[in-house]
Amino acid sequence: QPFDSRDGEIWFDGAFVPWSDAKVHVLTHGLHYASAVFEGERAYGGVIFKMHEHNQRLVNSGKLLGFDIPFSVDEIDRACEATLARQGFEDAYIRPIAWRGSEMMGVAAQSNTIHLAIAVWQWPSYFDPAERLKGIRVDLAEWRRPDPRTAPSKAKATGLYMICTLSKHAAERKGYADALMLDWRGQVAECTGANVFFVKDGAIHTPTPDCFLDGITRRTVIGLAKARGIEVIERAIMPEELDGFEECFICGTAAEVTPVSEIAQHRFAVGDITKTLMNDYAAAVRPAPKAAVAAA
Ligand code: PMP
Repeated sequence: QPFDSRDGEIWFDGAFVPWSDAKVHVLTHGLHYASAVFEGERAYGGVIFKMHEHNQRLVNSGKLLGFDIPFSVDEIDRACEATLARQGFEDAYIRPIAWRGSEMMGVAAQSNTIHLAIAVWQWPSYFDPAERLKGIRVDLAEWRRPDPRTAPSKAKATGLYMICTLSKHAAERKGYADALMLDWRGQVAECTGANVFFVKDGAIHTPTPDCFLDGITRRTVIGLAKARGIEVIERAIMPEELDGFEECFICGTAAEVTPVSEIAQHRFAVGDITKTLMNDYAAAVRPAPKAAVAAA
């Protein structure tokens, strides 16, 4: 079913509208000039994992693009919960998006209304579930993450995803599931919708997120690894080092923890640390079961 004609309702500027009525005009600034920011969140058992952090990042992303979303983080939290409840799902993906409206058309749009919409749908697995467990195959992208002086690289801004779509499409044409992008300096950065981790001699190595998204899942996984006493080293990683790593996995809200078996000509095992963190993440995102009601 295409995304513009599904069942249910979308939260749109403070009210619910039927799914297929949640439309914008073609002369919307956000569409022409990428003045839009978004989030991707997941609910497990009816509870949105790290919802407040995601919605705080949404508001911050708007500020990085020079606009204030006209709802507080708490109001966005309540709206996400209400949309999830309205759709009636326990496990679901939540997509808030904010954009500049259509009062002015041109590069400058200082006074355009900032809109906010929230949609919820079911997205069980980001990668093919069969392929996911044996590790996905990833290509090296030709496009790079920009210098932070070129773009506000800490914002989860739609414009930055042009690079991701180009990279992912090129990888898929060659039969890969995703693409690993280097940054402007040639250091390993991130995949098109997830952060990347490597394992070597029992320690985890991951690039320092200085010009790409410091994922909420990334920080969760670092915490889970440290809780198990696994050393986590954040540093610059060069593509020449890929052969020296034993395991590789990527993580993000949609992708969760997904093992990687190949990056271009490099091969990795789906090893113990990857499996441990897949399981630990799956346990961490689920709300604790409600205390059993004492039998009378
Ligand atoms: N990098 C990119 C480019 C992404 O799109 C995502 C998904 N939002 C991530 C990293 C991971 O971020 P998070 O763990 O906060 O979902």
